[in-house]
Amino acid sequence: MRGMRGIVFESSGRVGFKDFPRPEAGPGEAVVRVRSSGICGSDLQMLREPQTGLVVSGHEACGDIVELATPAPSGLRVGDRVMVYHYVGCGVCELCALGFEQGCPNRLSQYGRSANGGNAPYMLAAARALIPLPDELSYNAGAALACGTGTAWVGLRKMRVSGADSVAIFGQGPVGLSGTLIAKAMGARVIAVDIAQARLDLARAAGADHVISARGADPVTAIRELTGGKGATAALETSGSTSARSQALQSVRAMGQCCMVGIGHDPTPIEITRDLIFKSQTVLGSWTFTKAELIQAARFMVDATVQLDDLITHRFSFDEATEAFRVFAQGESGKCVFVA
Ligand SMILES: [Zn+2]
Ligand SMILES: [Zn+2]
Repeated sequence: MRGMRGIVFESSGRVGFKDFPRPEAGPGEAVVRVRSSGICGSDLQMLREPQTGLVVSGHEACGDIVELATPAPSGLRVGDRVMVYHYVGCGVCELCALGFEQGCPNRLSQYGRSANGGNAPYMLAAARALIPLPDELSYNAGAALACGTGTAWVGLRKMRVSGADSVAIFGQGPVGLSGTLIAKAMGARVIAVDIAQARLDLARAAGADHVISARGADPVTAIRELTGGKGATAALETSGSTSARSQALQSVRAMGQCCMVGIGHDPTPIEITRDLIFKSQTVLGSWTFTKAELIQAARFMVDATVQLDDLITHRFSFDEATEAFRVFAQGESGKCVFVA
């Protein structure tokens, strides 16, 4: 059997390599030649967790279908460029029927976590988890969309962000930086917040109207000053940091909305104040996207000519895995991808 080398998260908390057989498609499955595989903040969290049964890491895969078992879904062909939706729900329960497969209580697999993911030359996936990548988008853009960028798009969509908005985006890592690009494309004025100057520079280059360093200064005051004392109409929290979560909430004006997408590791008790009620504010959580939302997000990027490739600051080969995760963990990069 032909083999391949995949990147694994070792139980020591280290990045390593392991040999795997090159996958072959069984009924309902496809093999994708991975062209781009993104690194995500959640990978850093996974690296801290004890691992049981090493799988190929990576849940942001994009590439070409090289094998498709019969009977294959009509609409998919060998050679198609695809993004891999990284959850496979049971397909039958109410949440799956709603498209919310990531929340399926009977989830069959999650690529890069419970099943082999995209950090290897080939990836086995359920054919129904493959989403066609529009010709206009690069493989790197597809990898970004397949997790962080799609997450940012959905968060902003849920708040119906438009040209009438001043949006504060907390965190300018790959998700927040995507949020900056997308909110600009939606017509909004963007106030980008981070603690790393390198990431604020990226936000500025991505079109942020204002950038605010939360290091040593209170971003809430700065956001109020930039909005005539009122606060942002919408805030997107992508960092998962406890302080940023409460600042995001405080930065929003009356009737405003705050969407939390940054997962982080510490729970944040949200203070339900009289303000929340008297100002009739909306706080919502949003976790990744449904397949339909991934299709819609990809179409938006094409229609609005969002330059997703500007997100990518570092490209690595799979052999450079250790260096890639070291660079990403420093918290100063934009999107980091493995390209093959
Ligand atoms: Zn991710
Ligand atoms: Zn289900």
